[in-house]
Amino acid sequence: MAERLEKLRGQLDVLNMELLALLNKRAEITEEIGKVKAERGMEIYDPIRERQQLENLVDANEGPFGDDTIRHLFKQIFQASAGLQQQEKEKEQKYLVSRKTRMASTVVTLNGIEIGGGQQHIVAGPCSVETPSQMDAVGKLLQQQGIRMMRGGAYKPRTSPYDFQGLGVPGLQLLRETADRYGLTAISEIVNPSDVEMACDYLDVIQVGARNMQNFELLKAVGSIRKPVLLKRGLSATIEELMMAAEYILSRGNDQIILCERGIRTYEKATRNTLDISAVPILKQETHLPVMVDITHSTGRRDIIVQMAKAALAVGADGIMLEVHPDPSVALSDAKQQLDFDQFSTFMDGLRSSGFIKSDRATVRLPV
Ligand code: PEP
Ligand code: MN
Repeated sequence: MAERLEKLRGQLDVLNMELLALLNKRAEITEEIGKVKAERGMEIYDPIRERQQLENLVDANEGPFGDDTIRHLFKQIFQASAGLQQQEKEKEQKYLVSRKTRMASTVVTLNGIEIGGGQQHIVAGPCSVETPSQMDAVGKLLQQQGIRMMRGGAYKPRTSPYDFQGLGVPGLQLLRETADRYGLTAISEIVNPSDVEMACDYLDVIQVGARNMQNFELLKAVGSIRKPVLLKRGLSATIEELMMAAEYILSRGNDQIILCERGIRTYEKATRNTLDISAVPILKQETHLPVMVDITHSTGRRDIIVQMAKAALAVGADGIMLEVHPDPSVALSDAKQQLDFDQFSTFMDGLRSSGFIKSDRATVRLPV
């Protein structure tokens, strides 16, 4: 009796090995099919083909396994094969945004300023462009502080439709005039794809805001121009989604992209958003694009802004962005988070005293 059992077990062992060899032979063929499908841009999953195979198997089934068992077993095999084909497709897929595609870091150049080339920069300005005197005061302050890039929103994507929506074109004009007067570059957000070309007449950098990170028509529009784009991470976007948004722009031929971490939505209420500082080294590692950190919108807190700036710079950001206003209490947007001029000077002194800013130029560097 024991001898018979041993013999039967021995037969099973042999069959197992044969099945194993057959399954792997089948897998090799499905991998080949995956390559052909990837070359032709075909879908991996083909339900009609799968049904046909299952029907053929059930027709040929003589038992003892029932038809349902055969269907179940072969479904498992098909799924495992589809997994292999998917891996094959992923191997083939090369993203323009990836450092695997382009090893050298992309340097975004604007008016002699190089972003992503090793130096760290500061972008500052009001949340919204409001009045000529407001803009002039900020422009003067930035020049005094050695800052070379000015921000200011002319199109404001506000949560409430009753809140200030921005000055539109006159706001862009005002930003341009102020930037020219003080030798600054001008950065502002555009929300409508049809405004992108027009905005190029006024701006040095077009900003795509967090709420528009997956506005794919806007991404295509800024991909079609030859101006730098500051692309902010969406409120609830993953790092991968931010990278894919950048891919939209790159795929249209514009590689002058600066990524911007600006905090993400979490359950934490102590800050306006949660600054995902880990996104900076990950994005620098995974992509070849420069990465900035918006230290204003990420926390919405003035009291920790110096610490956040240091953290961003220490972790390797190519620059930081923050908001400053002559009188934040009457600002038409983000009144609670903008720094006034004294706070801004204290902020700059804080960075200088800890060695984060080289001399009087607003090019920052890590302490040695
Ligand atoms: C801004 O920078 O003006 C802004 C609205 O920021 P975010 O899109 O990151 O909210
Ligand atoms: Mn703001």
